[in-house]
Amino acid sequence: MDSRLEAVRDTVLARNPGEKEFHQAVIEVFESLGPVHDRHPEFLEGAVLERLCEPERQIIFRVPWTDDAGRVHVNRGFRVEFNSALGPYKGGLRFHPSVYLGIVKFLGFEQIFKNALTGMPIGGGKGGSDFDPRGRSDAEIMRFCQSFMTELYRHIGEYTDVPAGDIGVGGREIGYLFGQYKRITNRYESGVLTGKGISWGGSLVRPEATGYGTVIFAQEMLKTRGLSFDGQRVVVSGSGNVAIHAIAKAQSLGATVVACSDSAGYIVDEAGIDVALLSQVKEVERGRLTDYAARRPGSNHVAGDSVWDVTGTVALPCATQNELDGDAAAKLVSNGLIAVAEGANMPSTRSAVSVFQEAGILFGPGKAANAGGVATSALEMQQNASRDSWSFEHTEQRLTEIMVGIYDRCAATADEYGAPGNYVVGANIGGFVKVADAMLAQGLI
Ligand code: NDP
Repeated sequence: MDSRLEAVRDTVLARNPGEKEFHQAVIEVFESLGPVHDRHPEFLEGAVLERLCEPERQIIFRVPWTDDAGRVHVNRGFRVEFNSALGPYKGGLRFHPSVYLGIVKFLGFEQIFKNALTGMPIGGGKGGSDFDPRGRSDAEIMRFCQSFMTELYRHIGEYTDVPAGDIGVGGREIGYLFGQYKRITNRYESGVLTGKGISWGGSLVRPEATGYGTVIFAQEMLKTRGLSFDGQRVVVSGSGNVAIHAIAKAQSLGATVVACSDSAGYIVDEAGIDVALLSQVKEVERGRLTDYAARRPGSNHVAGDSVWDVTGTVALPCATQNELDGDAAAKLVSNGLIAVAEGANMPSTRSAVSVFQEAGILFGPGKAANAGGVATSALEMQQNASRDSWSFEHTEQRLTEIMVGIYDRCAATADEYGAPGNYVVGANIGGFVKVADAMLAQGLI
């Protein structure tokens, strides 16, 4: 790391003790930014990095709710409004028992650069709760969402902060959150949340966008080696929103996706994952991958172990942070891996990224490769603002153009800074310069 940035890094780490995922995200970005500060001394003079690492606002709140038996539970809610240099704070809400401030801050920090890369007018933020939705009834989910929004509503708005989904927050939860916002404020403010249902202000392609976008980014990387998805053997982690649509898109381009996972294990299906069955099991029935294996002849479920033990030429990590470590990366490389595109946020550890880069694997970091979701959220905001709704084909075309644009920006920036093919450098610098310029232009705020 550039020595001028080390002191800033040390201060950030000391000011935010115990937030290891946030530290990891900050260090990963700082490692790319030395050359930018050679060209832009004004960023150092303006203390842009110091300001960027301190969220503009952090909200932590109590979320009390009752379960179906009438027992009272108390969870913790978070919204970190990280940076509004480019637009209203924008980023998802995550409901998962692992959520604490360090996770929300890592996600919010990444979101700043990701949103800048999309070219859309959106700042960076993230939120969530340590609430565990698994095994909860619809009525319990609704009561939790209503309690969560009863505090959150005063902090968000079309021009302020626009949350969306993430792990554990999909269309059902966005519906309950939107309903409660409307009830409290007496305003039908479509632009306050994205990921809404199609009949009440949502955008076509939003559910598919992150997974589709990840595959589009990977396809652009493969083209540089004269390859495509056709004939690739793909391994995916996760089996949620991002994973399912990444699988569908990869297979529509001629790949065979032979494995995917959840937190209990993975399935192998050499004939190619049956997307309709996977979607039925995971999205409609909210079941487990064991249910898929039981209903799909020729597939098998492996409990416990890592999906990265499965051989593939393309890996799409689409589950969660730090799910792919250096050992898993080395195994994938020795099994013939060509490319990795991160559908999840920071799924590869720093040592995994080093293994991929040293082996010359095409590597698309999450802040670029999974930006299709937030970009389509911004398209949803555009449709809401103009009270319009676009066709699937038109919206998908826009998504494709945005993803190819992000790829091109990452590739061009990497070239410009002497690191051709290094999309980590391209994404970090490309996103950072845009935000830093805007911050300086807006004065000391
Ligand atoms: P979902 O809740 O729909 O699915 C998450 C999937 O990941 C599930 O299969 C889940 O398994 C698995 N998973 C979650 N936590 C763990 C864990 N600790 N260990 C192993 N597996 C785990 O979430 P999404 O698909 O929306 O999100 C997946 C990733 O993509 C996240 O990193 C998210 O931040 C990122 N992302 C999402 C976007 C979106 O538009 N939704 C946009 C950009 C990034 P199980 O069911 O067993 O919990």
